[in-house]
Amino acid sequence: MATKILTGAAVLGIAPFAEAAEKVGEEKIIPLEETFLDPVQEAKEILPFEMPRIRRFKPLAELKIGKQNLNFASFMDQRRFTSAIVVHHAGMTYNGDMSLKAIHDLHLGNGWAGVGYHFIVHQDGTIDRARPIDRIGAHAYAHNRYTVGICMTGNFDIGVPSAAQVLSAEMLVAALCHHYDIIPSRETIFGHRDLCDTACPGYNFYPRLPELVGNVERALRRA
Ligand SMILES: [Zn+2]
Repeated sequence: MATKILTGAAVLGIAPFAEAAEKVGEEKIIPLEETFLDPVQEAKEILPFEMPRIRRFKPLAELKIGKQNLNFASFMDQRRFTSAIVVHHAGMTYNGDMSLKAIHDLHLGNGWAGVGYHFIVHQDGTIDRARPIDRIGAHAYAHNRYTVGICMTGNFDIGVPSAAQVLSAEMLVAALCHHYDIIPSRETIFGHRDLCDTACPGYNFYPRLPELVGNVERALRRA
């Protein structure tokens, strides 16, 4: 089957992702952030930034998470089990924020049911609920059936996440681990890059994932 043209992504100047593989019942996974690994970028110095520690763990029900009424274009299958979390960056051409609605519209433009991630973590630290948490996402090709997808807005190939954003992402990952009985490790908390041929969640952020996992683990141990 031919790869769909990323109309919305093209408007934003994002290179279309050419993964042609297809799986029955799974939306073609072409997140707006897809970039192939780039050896030149890989060799660059990693930009420093702060990875705050979670001061107090909060379960999912106590986290402040925004909810908007999104219209999904088609039925999404229920996820039968959840054993891992995948962290993404939005990977636009600029390292700025992006609304849930804009991401939803881009993914609708891909011919998907709608936004492929389950949560969006914004640069000011606010979190939005995106695709219903119990539905199979469209964020990590061939790995959607057992994972929850979190997207941090921004492009961490060229920039870095804010401290507020990192903290919210850590809090959310910890809450999800708690909710789904996931033991946090690099075997259960992935960057998109661990699973697919992409630089996501960015050259500057990907190397810091072990710290994120460590912060989540510490918070859960104290919870
Ligand atoms: Zn990704």
